[in-house]
Amino acid sequence: MRTVSTEHKRVDIRRNDTVKVMTGRDTGKEGRVLRVSPNEGKVLVEHVMMVKKHVRPNPQRNIKGGIAEQERAIPLSNVALVCATCGPVRIGHEVRGDRKVRVCKKCGTTLDK
Ligand SMILES: [Zn+2]
Repeated sequence: MRTVSTEHKRVDIRRNDTVKVMTGRDTGKEGRVLRVSPNEGKVLVEHVMMVKKHVRPNPQRNIKGGIAEQERAIPLSNVALVCATCGPVRIGHEVRGDRKVRVCKKCGTTLDK
């Protein structure tokens, strides 16, 4: 029996989208999506969920030791895509011409460029 999940998770958030954090430590923050990990159900948002990371000095790679700040991925369900007119919204889908686009559920504007 295979243990690999065949469930396909469709994710409507994409890289470079602007999202708003709806829950968690950084509620209310908006940022650009740096990375989406559909399999983990996580998203990395610029300047959101900053964590301090201790860095070991590595002279060979010219890395100074100390504390660096870095984003940590948060659950996709904690963010909402931001519509330029409505703010954070739910995403709908529509077929325009020969492609499927994401639309704002409130105003119907296409959220894809
Ligand atoms: Zn809208």
